[in-house]
Amino acid sequence: MVPKTLDTDILILGAGGAGLFAALHAHKAAPELSITVAVKGLLGKCGCTRMVQGGYNVALAREDSVERHFMDTIEGGGWLCDQELAWKLVTLAVERIRELENELGCFFDRNPDGTIHQKAFAGQTFDRTVHKGDLTGIEIINRLAEQVWARDISRLEEHRAVELIKDSSGSAIAGALFIDMRTGEYVFVRAKAVLLATGGGPTMYRYHTPSGDKSCDGLAMALRAGLPLRDMEMVQFHPTGLLAGTHTRMTGTVLEEGLRGAGGHLLNGARERFMPRYDPKGERATRDIVARAMFSEIRKGSTSPHGGLYLSMAHLGAIEVRNQFKGMVERCADCGFDLAGGLVEVVPTAHYLMGGVEFAPDCTTALPGLFVAGEDAGGVHGANRLGGNGVANSTVFGAVAGDAMAAWAKVEGKFLEPDRNALDAAISECERPFGGGSQENIETLRERLYEVMWEQVGILRDAGGLEVARNELQALDVELDAYSLPHAERAFNLAWHDWLNLKSLVAVSRAIAAAAAARRDSRGAHFRSDFPESGALEQSVFTSLRSTGNQLQVFVKPVVFARVAPGQTLLRNVA
Ligand SMILES: Cc1cc2nc3c(=O)[nH]c(=O)nc-3n(C[C@H](O)[C@H](O)[C@H](O)COP(=O)(O)OP(=O)(O)OC[C@H]3O[C@@H](n4cnc5c(N)ncnc54)[C@H](O)[C@@H]3O)c2cc1C
Repeated sequence: MVPKTLDTDILILGAGGAGLFAALHAHKAAPELSITVAVKGLLGKCGCTRMVQGGYNVALAREDSVERHFMDTIEGGGWLCDQELAWKLVTLAVERIRELENELGCFFDRNPDGTIHQKAFAGQTFDRTVHKGDLTGIEIINRLAEQVWARDISRLEEHRAVELIKDSSGSAIAGALFIDMRTGEYVFVRAKAVLLATGGGPTMYRYHTPSGDKSCDGLAMALRAGLPLRDMEMVQFHPTGLLAGTHTRMTGTVLEEGLRGAGGHLLNGARERFMPRYDPKGERATRDIVARAMFSEIRKGSTSPHGGLYLSMAHLGAIEVRNQFKGMVERCADCGFDLAGGLVEVVPTAHYLMGGVEFAPDCTTALPGLFVAGEDAGGVHGANRLGGNGVANSTVFGAVAGDAMAAWAKVEGKFLEPDRNALDAAISECERPFGGGSQENIETLRERLYEVMWEQVGILRDAGGLEVARNELQALDVELDAYSLPHAERAFNLAWHDWLNLKSLVAVSRAIAAAAAARRDSRGAHFRSDFPESGALEQSVFTSLRSTGNQLQVFVKPVVFARVAPGQTLLRNVA
């Protein structure tokens, strides 16, 4: 089958903070270039940046510093961060927040003296989270989308990228293959530079926070393209996922970090506060520590009616809570909970992938012409992402990628002929469920994926469980390949896209399980009950994983302490 073909100088996959910032920066740097944003949903209406509640970490206050933000990021990341990437994050976040306010038109909350209000987030030594109430992402994405709409930037909405296509020599990117979801047609977009910004998203776990359009497609495509992925075992669980029963999709959605930052308490089924027993910082410990403590309490059996725990804010004063967390109070009320004055049932929920494609500080990857930014990119956060560093990461590196792609497309980038065999093979893979195989209920396969990832590759792991998971994931992949869709219609066939989502999720789940099996210590978000020690920080290693054929190879590599080594600090005047 020969797909419809389009040409664009710069192709951006995804329209979150990373994709939209990349489009704006590329356009500013080189307005003469053609730029196309291709997105699975509608521009401005999809992805997780829009869902950002709490806010954006940036060192703005006189008493704060980028060094301090950097040290919090490195220590929070269990010393596994790529320090050059983390440095870029904290320094360029200052520029991006100014750009968001002064050029792009965002309004953030302010103090009475007119300075930007910055609130407390867990795991930080300074209150540096900029926000717009507790619905910060809507403000950021709406303003970014308006600016993209106002410029000569093309859009391919409801276009799902299904494969990165190399040139015929296999040594550079030629473009990407899409399914136009509205018609079911295949479209090949040829480009000089391609940005992978599809935003990760660990939606393979029973409880998860990301938007429904996120199914790790970008990481699955990167794996098939043979790119190295780092830190894939590092999956962040947000401690306070709403738990409102199986009848509602609200279960798993996040109640923001600022609730714990403001002094919220976590209680077990006996309504006793337990966090001080696990960490002196109590509920303000980093997410990995709080989520693990919660999972341990749940396993002890003292739970809320739906099998989770409670979040309590009432001691802070109902009026204050209502004023400070209006969106959260309303969300809880929708599910029958009184956040301001009562108790809310919560459970840890899969939130973010620290792991992703290995990349350089200019967002280049091992494949010439392919760039990566945002949650698809690995290495910035190490073993644990600080709340508030996610949207900073996507906007900072989106902008870097936009600048770098414009420079590349002007000087080195070329339109390359795609590998026709690779295009044919990718289309055949997508056509597989129209082949008339078994008609198993796809919900059963999804439930099995949720179950195995939650129980064996979740907050607590061990060798036996990981082996069970690897076998089950392999079996699920085989069963998905044999699955047959009930309808042959291509246009808006959401069952087909569900199948494609599950294929991506199983591929990336296998990578998570393989990296988790290779990492024989416990660090940050990764906890092995058979290897509970974190190991010497000076000998920190990270995992680097590649797919070769149907096999996954995991290498363990030393972390380079490019700016600061364990035991040292960049802060002056530290006693
Ligand atoms: C509920 C929630 C609350 C959060 N709150 C905070 C917070 O307070 N502070 C913070 O720092 N971080 C927060 N985060 C994390 C933050 O949202 C992410 O780190 C960040 O927004 C990721 O940006 P991104 O551009 O990489 O991805 P996204 O914003 O998710 O964008 C990904 C884009 O890729 C598109 N896409 C996906 N697959 C394909 C495909 N196959 N083809 C084409 N397009 C595709 C999607 O439709 C979407 O447009 C939160 C996340 C969630 C889920």
